[in-house]
Amino acid sequence: MESAPDPSAAPARTGRTAALSPSRAADFMRCPLLYRFRVIDRLPEKPSAAATRGTVVHAVLERLFDAPAAERTPARAQGLLPGEWEKLLAARPELAELFLGEDGAHDPERLAGWLAEAGRLVERWFTLEDPTRLEPAERELYVETVLPDVGEAGLTLRGIVDRVDVAPSGDVRIVDYKTGKAPGPQYRAEPLFQMKFYALVMWRTGGRVPRRLQLVYLGSGDVLTYDPVEAELLAVERKLRALWEAISLATETGDWRPRPTKLCGWCDHRARCPEFGGTPPPYPLPLPAQRPAGEDGPAAPAEDGQGRMDTV
Ligand code: SF4
Repeated sequence: MESAPDPSAAPARTGRTAALSPSRAADFMRCPLLYRFRVIDRLPEKPSAAATRGTVVHAVLERLFDAPAAERTPARAQGLLPGEWEKLLAARPELAELFLGEDGAHDPERLAGWLAEAGRLVERWFTLEDPTRLEPAERELYVETVLPDVGEAGLTLRGIVDRVDVAPSGDVRIVDYKTGKAPGPQYRAEPLFQMKFYALVMWRTGGRVPRRLQLVYLGSGDVLTYDPVEAELLAVERKLRALWEAISLATETGDWRPRPTKLCGWCDHRARCPEFGGTPPPYPLPLPAQRPAGEDGPAAPAEDGQGRMDTV
């Protein structure tokens, strides 16, 4: 599913630009060892029913805006669900394993239940936003900017924004759909950081600070909004520079510390995590003692994904 790590991906040797997405920045902040497993070892992870449902629901909410405003109805959105699931399955046949029964055969009831839950999430969206009154300027927008003065070629910040609305005044609203439940106030820093990451990138590319950041939680029916100011986005930029320094240092030394939290329960890598009695695979990049004298250490490899925000 995933390619083997490529130690030669270091910018110092290939000219490849270092890159960071909100998801991978969040991984490193949550647990440096998790970041290593995902970005450097590129270890495969099992598909999850919840994340896959998030992908399909996102696709439906995106496609719905292809229709004229008056036709963006709950029924139309529901009608898009099976087709979007089929498209995803055709692109990623391994997802079929999510719907196997005890006997290892396809379990249509399991699939039907999963699709029904996706339908409920889509339905709930109509109680939170009215697509007949929205004309998004962008959907699934790939955004990218380069922070200069980081390494040799700068640090590329990139990601995919679910929706961008632009008011007649020119004010920009960045919208992100989450198919999970809204976190309690003490856990909001992470999703907000990710939204500010997008705001920073759009400010740097468009020259205007987005007026509003909006998180739409379909799992609980909540909408969280936040109006960022320039000083906060500058603080996010400083934080990303510091984060990249820490990632580069860990890449160079091979010192990726596990940071256990309650979220370990959802981590695919527990069996190889020292916190749970496991042993990580051999570090795939050369460590200082193994490098010929005078050779630079590996710069942190660019992640391979486009960095969509987590969808559950
Ligand atoms: S189990 Fe927890 S501490 Fe270990 S790698 Fe996963 S997130 Fe990190």
